[in-house]
Amino acid sequence: MSKVPSKAVSNPVIESEEHRALRAAVAALGTRYGREYFARVVADGSHTDELWAEAAKLGYLGVNLPEEYGGGGGGIVELSLVLEELGAAGCPLLMLVVSPAICGTVIARFGTEEQKRSWLPGLADGSRKMAFGITEPDAGSNSHRITTTARRDGGDWVLDGRKIFISGVDIADATLIVGRTEDARTGKLKPCLFIVESDTPGFGRSPIPMELAAPEKQFELTLDGVRLPADALVGDEDAGLLQLFAGLNPERIMTAAFALGMGRYALGRAVDYARTRQVWKEPIGAHQALAHPLAQSHIELELAGLMMRKAALLYDAGDDLAAGEAANMAKYAAAEAAVRAVDQAVHTLGGNGLTHEYGLASLITAARVARIAPVSREMILNFVSHQSLGLPKSY
Ligand SMILES: Cc1cc2nc3c(=O)[nH]c(=O)nc-3n(C[C@H](O)[C@H](O)[C@H](O)COP(=O)(O)OP(=O)(O)OC[C@H]3O[C@@H](n4cnc5c(N)ncnc54)[C@H](O)[C@@H]3O)c2cc1C
Repeated sequence: MSKVPSKAVSNPVIESEEHRALRAAVAALGTRYGREYFARVVADGSHTDELWAEAAKLGYLGVNLPEEYGGGGGGIVELSLVLEELGAAGCPLLMLVVSPAICGTVIARFGTEEQKRSWLPGLADGSRKMAFGITEPDAGSNSHRITTTARRDGGDWVLDGRKIFISGVDIADATLIVGRTEDARTGKLKPCLFIVESDTPGFGRSPIPMELAAPEKQFELTLDGVRLPADALVGDEDAGLLQLFAGLNPERIMTAAFALGMGRYALGRAVDYARTRQVWKEPIGAHQALAHPLAQSHIELELAGLMMRKAALLYDAGDDLAAGEAANMAKYAAAEAAVRAVDQAVHTLGGNGLTHEYGLASLITAARVARIAPVSREMILNFVSHQSLGLPKSY
């Protein structure tokens, strides 16, 4: 394992004893599986079922979900810590972003009693997974433009539309689909969330070949007259936007955790290598041209970790508005830090940075996922320009 110094956020002044213990326990689990396990799963085209099941058994997957439904009664602070530590051990579990963080949160906050009882225990104990589908081919970053439409037909809902880049649909029992209902009063469309079980007639999926070495696959979805019972709608038809953002903020915080873990993993590999690799009289880590960018990455990851913690604390405290800004900033900071850390790590290893044996080069594309999804770097800069700084909008 890496000898990179422990993070400042792990300091007892910054982080409670309970959180530090959780961090250490998750790190131990991640280390037991490690990068070799993850790489083998990817090479086999299989999934991280063993790690998922063990993490679930230890209570890590549902750590944010309410205790009365089998969860740990914690929040996004704890769940983000779980994902960060698994990633730092070389095992970033993307489905943690989707299943317990977005879907679990939305159902726990806005679902009916029946939806909570039928989904949350399974999401918490890992026996069920839920994917999340908002992105559409013709809407992309502009989710106000989505056209997946839900219309009432007697007591049912009927959904038609298309989604793209939806992760993990093949291993999910259902997908939380963001559609729009026709607003009877204004004639405008508004967002609504539906639980679409994977075997529902008319719900089709095809895998998108991606240049990513990850166990989770992305899918294009077709919803062709998908008929759903009335109780497939999550929450209130008139408060869809509020409910959507209740899920999108955890998604951004968790994407920050995903990026941070990956960045820490890459930095650790690079530091280990730079300490021992010697081609002149000192190890290559003695050359400042190599040491300084690694030090910069360490600082950037630490800063992003603090921002992530701020966002998660605000979210768990129920301040959705402040959490929104912080979650965007944390996602931005963590993704940028991770992309730079991975790039520098690959460079530090010279030719070995591109070998299969060292396994770092595949992180170049993997880290960039966090720069693009769930909201791109540019859209966060737009958000901060307009919402935080009050600058005018160009689009
Ligand atoms: C690996 C992976 C997994 C994913 N998983 C999911 C999932 O599970 N569920 C889901 O719903 N979605 C998922 N996505 C989709 C992801 O959220 C989108 O890719 C992302 O929102 C960007 O949308 P887009 O790809 O259509 O890019 P576009 O919106 O077409 O953007 C293309 C480029 O234009 C820039 N751009 C666009 N508008 C502006 C503007 N106004 N100002 C400046 N620049 C702009 C963007 O920053 C970007 O660089 C996933 C994507 C990936 C890559």
